[in-house]
Formats: sequence, structure tokens, C-alpha cells
Amino acid sequence: MKTEVLGIRYDNVTMAEALDAARTFLQSDASGYVVTPNAEIAYEALHSEALCRVLNDAQLVLPDGAGVVLASKLVRSPLKQKVAGFDFALLLLPVLAELGLRLFLLGSNPGVAEQAAEILREKHPNLCICGTADGYFSQDGEALEAIRAVQADVVYVCLGAPKQEFFMQRNLAPSGAKLMLGLGGTLDVVAGHVKRAPRWMQKLGLEWFYRLLRQPSRFGRMLRLPKYIFAALKKRWKG
Ligand code: UDP
Repeated sequence: MKTEVLGIRYDNVTMAEALDAARTFLQSDASGYVVTPNAEIAYEALHSEALCRVLNDAQLVLPDGAGVVLASKLVRSPLKQKVAGFDFALLLLPVLAELGLRLFLLGSNPGVAEQAAEILREKHPNLCICGTADGYFSQDGEALEAIRAVQADVVYVCLGAPKQEFFMQRNLAPSGAKLMLGLGGTLDVVAGHVKRAPRWMQKLGLEWFYRLLRQPSRFGRMLRLPKYIFAALKKRWKG
């Protein structure tokens, strides 16, 4: 079931339901992509029809952030819970292994995707990671060729938002992959280059604050969070 919050239609699911939906989709004949918008990107979508469309055209739209869940409550279309893209990506790995699907890791600085692949192969010996490529290619064609060459079924696209969303929209069909997932800085975290907020901070919805402390250069971008919440309040007041 989709729930609209400020123009974006989210799948109103728990983590378990999101994983079930992905499994069912992977067992079907269809192809599609998954987006995991947080408040920053949802705010950007308020001002970009193209971004709004690329998000709404996704097979699965998962609310990745306490800000989005808070906004959903403010506009009285409550989402069940935050479904973090990072957690979803890791929990999907055993499903991919079980279904015998081939995973490609795309994104981040040179070498990082390969490091992440090695760590994941150790944790999931039955998982087939069929290829990796960094995210600093000059033309989509380079990445596409790498994905097609190894006949990947699933691609974790970690180019940051909104670059990865537009990449998936343009390249899903020509890639031959069944499912692409836009996952931001996931490979940096898996490879150990970036730390995630401690659990207690995640539970309190303070992951954004932890990221701000670690990467103060994100301050400008993060100003979108209060602006997004304000947009939700405005919608609530106007009814
Ligand atoms: N990145 C990339 N290619 C680019 C720009 C960024 O591969 O052209 C990578 C970058 O190295 C980082 C990730 O995309 O690994 C973005 O991470 P971030 O945590 O900023 O994700 P976001 O919050 O934007 O989803």
C-alpha cells in the first residue's frame, strides 16, 4: 500500500514487509528499481518534478529517515516505520543468495566496492557477487558495460542522491538487470571507511546529527531537514 507524503508515494511497510515485497518481485518476471529517500532528498523533490517522478516510478519507495516518518505524522498520513536503505541492503543479501541471484556493487571511490565485496563474500559465502565498479565513470556506458558483461541480476547503485536515482531510471532496461537499488554511502560503511551512528542514536532518530558531527561539510545540505519539516507543518496547518 502506498502512502503519500508531500508528493512522494512511499510503500508503507515494515522492514519485514519490505523484504517480502522485494523477494516476491525478484521471483516475478518484472524489472524495477528501489529508492530510499531521506528528508534531504524528499525536500529536493518538492522543487523538482523530474526528481519527484523518478522517485514515484520506483518499484519500492522506502522511507530512509526519521525526518520522513515525522513529516508523515505531521501531514496525518503516518508511515509505519523508517526502513533504512543500509539495513535493507544487508538484510536482502541472504535472500539474493537463496534465490541464486548475481549481485553487482557499483559506486564510491576506486577500490571501495571491491573491499566491500570481499567483506560481504566472507559473511555470505553462498552469495554471488559477480562484479564491482567505482562510481566515478565519465559516461554511463562504462558502468553499463561492466554490469552487462557479468550478467548481473541485482545492482546496488551507490552514487549518492539524486545521481543514483536518475542513473537507475536511465539504465535499468539496457543493463539487463532485474533490480537496481539506490543506496547512497552504503559501500563506504560496509568497507569500513565511514561509521554509522550508534544504535541508540539511530533509535532516537538522531542519525542525521551524528553524520553532521562526522561530516560538518554536510551542514548546507542538512538545512533541508528543518525546511522539509516546516513544509509538512505548513501542509498540516492549511489542512
Ligand atoms: N559517489 C559516487 N560517484 C559520484 C558521486 C558520489 O560513487 O559521482 C559516491 C560517494 O563516493 C559516496 C556515495 O556516492 O560513496 C554518496 O554517499 P552519501 O553518504 O553522500 O550518500 P547520500 O547521502 O547522498 O545518499
